[in-house]
Amino acid sequence: MQTLEKLKALDLPAFCNARGLEVFENVSLSKYSYLKTGGTARYVVYPRSVDSLVSILAHLVETGQRFKIIGNTSNLLFKDATDYSVLICTLWLNDISVVNGELVAECGASLPELSRQALYSGFRGFEGLEGIPGTVGAGIFMNAGAYGSEIKDTLLAVDFADPDGSVRRISAAELGLDHRSSLLRKGQLDGTILRAYFRGMPGNVTSIYSKMEIFHEKRHRYQDFLYPNLGSLFSGSPYDVFARRDKSVRWMMKYDLWRRRFAKYFLKGTPTDRKWINAYVVKRLGLSYSIQPFSDKTMNCLVNRGQGTDAMIAYIQQMQALTGGKIPLENEILEAF
Ligand SMILES: Cc1cc2nc3c(=O)[nH]c(=O)nc-3n(C[C@H](O)[C@H](O)[C@H](O)COP(=O)(O)OP(=O)(O)OC[C@H]3O[C@@H](n4cnc5c(N)ncnc54)[C@H](O)[C@@H]3O)c2cc1C
Repeated sequence: MQTLEKLKALDLPAFCNARGLEVFENVSLSKYSYLKTGGTARYVVYPRSVDSLVSILAHLVETGQRFKIIGNTSNLLFKDATDYSVLICTLWLNDISVVNGELVAECGASLPELSRQALYSGFRGFEGLEGIPGTVGAGIFMNAGAYGSEIKDTLLAVDFADPDGSVRRISAAELGLDHRSSLLRKGQLDGTILRAYFRGMPGNVTSIYSKMEIFHEKRHRYQDFLYPNLGSLFSGSPYDVFARRDKSVRWMMKYDLWRRRFAKYFLKGTPTDRKWINAYVVKRLGLSYSIQPFSDKTMNCLVNRGQGTDAMIAYIQQMQALTGGKIPLENEILEAF
């Protein structure tokens, strides 16, 4: 059956209305998604409880309807002029509580909120999650982290829905969390994270707060906050790969480092952009584009300057060819379904 016919037969709005799930039809992804790209989503469904999330997942699997679970879409590149059928958004499942010394968070709770709750409770190990604009479920899916903390440091277990709709509790070890990766991300485990249990490791509140403040300031200095973007494009530094493969880039990067150090100590501070070295790398390695697809702050961040997703993907492909696949792509490109 064609996707559209399947969707009609499914009568998703009727199912959602009967069970108190909110459903939006024909959602423009260029307005809705974090990167502000994409065609239309036929349905975006918002479960209001973990039970209703399980019920809609079971229903979609039973009826053979393809879907994608999403959090805040801060790692997803939806393609322009491309239609998607059903998106299940977890953002309304955002409860966080402290139970028996553990932090318990629903899958749609935001990572910044999780780190704030850890601060209020005096739990350390969540400080680096403060500025990651994603959700707990997706954070586990890719073992999100920054500034020395990652999800796997504190995660104990999750409530997990298997594709057949059965729910079980599985340990963090069973998720195979690794650097920005997990068995889910590798496609070796299929299912949805419903709720997560984190170890509450007691820490000093003043020291937790000051770490969060330092990371917050750093993030705003070195990350693009003007153009829509998805954070790091690759899980690793393309500059390091370029420096290893090209002697001239290596020397220019060393020179750039000294320039920046000089600026830090003798001028008004380190420049927050890398325009100079970026321009050198682009020319030296022969990257081509008509609208600059990356942030001035780093070539490892794709930005939306209105160039369209074909041009964004062309940039990703050029970078993949230049890095020889040595660093995995972190952002996820979504094909139509
Ligand atoms: C400005 C900016 C800064 C960023 N900084 C960082 C950083 O420092 N460190 C870092 O690690 N990432 C960073 N990111 C990337 C991104 O925020 C993370 O990947 C985050 O975990 C994505 O969360 P999300 O809710 O937006 O997920 P989405 O983009 O909506 O989804 C990502 C993937 O997770 C899957 N998923 C979502 N929910 C579930 C669930 N409940 N169960 C199973 N699978 C699920 C989706 O199907 C999808 O495949 C940054 C992004 C931006 C825009």
